[in-house]
Amino acid sequence: MRKRLVRFASAGIPIQCEGGNLEAVQCSRDLGLGAFELEFVRGVKMKEGTAREIAASARKNDVLISSHAPYYINCCTQEKAKVAGTIRHIFSSAQATGWCGGTITVFHPGYYQKLSKEEAFQAAKKVLLMVKEKMDAQKVKCILGAETVGKKSAFGGLGEVIRLHEELGFVWPVLDFAHLLARGDLPCKTEEDYRKLFDMVEKKVKGYGKDFHSHFSSIKYGEKGERNHLPISANVPPYKPLMKMLAENGISGRVVCESPRLEYDALIMQKEYLKHL
Ligand SMILES: [Zn+2]
Repeated sequence: MRKRLVRFASAGIPIQCEGGNLEAVQCSRDLGLGAFELEFVRGVKMKEGTAREIAASARKNDVLISSHAPYYINCCTQEKAKVAGTIRHIFSSAQATGWCGGTITVFHPGYYQKLSKEEAFQAAKKVLLMVKEKMDAQKVKCILGAETVGKKSAFGGLGEVIRLHEELGFVWPVLDFAHLLARGDLPCKTEEDYRKLFDMVEKKVKGYGKDFHSHFSSIKYGEKGERNHLPISANVPPYKPLMKMLAENGISGRVVCESPRLEYDALIMQKEYLKHL
């Protein structure tokens, strides 16, 4: 039997768990999940005391912690107030994640609006360097996970998040398979598609196959890309070939389930993954 190298998480407090983020850590373990993603999407309100308790519970229960930074982020914005807000949100998210013993906070990079793709890239790079400077000054240790976005109007295609990593080592690509499919960045349909995707990313991001971070759900999409997330049973993109590919290729990392069925679907994916070990 192969080694179990992929951990599954619910994006936010599992439906079956009572209480808040602290209780969700133990509850995730009781459900059989080895990771948990905190949702700071509507703002970071976590106090340091609670965060430290989360860290202790995560250690005790062997649950890996990550987080999703607030939605109100646009690293490409040209408005001063929004630049400051973006820096504050990513920083607070990274800081709270660090307190919780987490290693990565995921963020949506931004929007092109009137900028060219190159201008958007340079703007984002500048903002992320400012975030890093603030993190270093306050000794915050957390990886910034740039998520592949689902809308064509958004900055954060696969090539762009890889380039962010290439130019800023503290940024790690986060693969959202549904978004890759919806935006038309990659097919994500067959086992071979998934394998090629990982091979391609691994070539540019050294060690990615040993510590990938990803989001999974099914998705409804149209010409402009993402519309909304769906349960994995919708099979767009299909989860089974991904699970088989991850197991058979000895890839390590995390799959965070963002379907409306959260942990129910995370557990279905985990079961499918274990079948191929
Ligand atoms: Zn996201």
